[in-house]
Amino acid sequence: MKATFACKDIGMKCNFETEAATKESLMPKIAEHAKKAHGISTIPDDLRSKVSAAIKIKP
Ligand SMILES: [Zn+2]
Repeated sequence: MKATFACKDIGMKCNFETEAATKESLMPKIAEHAKKAHGISTIPDDLRSKVSAAIKIKP
């Protein structure tokens, strides 16, 4: 299984894409990127659900 996330999928003008084995292990990577690239130190709940909905799961 593979979980992938692309920043542009939540409407960001950003080419960042990341992947991990599970959605749970992908979230910290996204959080780190949000902090470094977008200055979002804590992901608010509404953004978290947006991100969660944008994550693609591939078997
Ligand atoms: Zn980004």
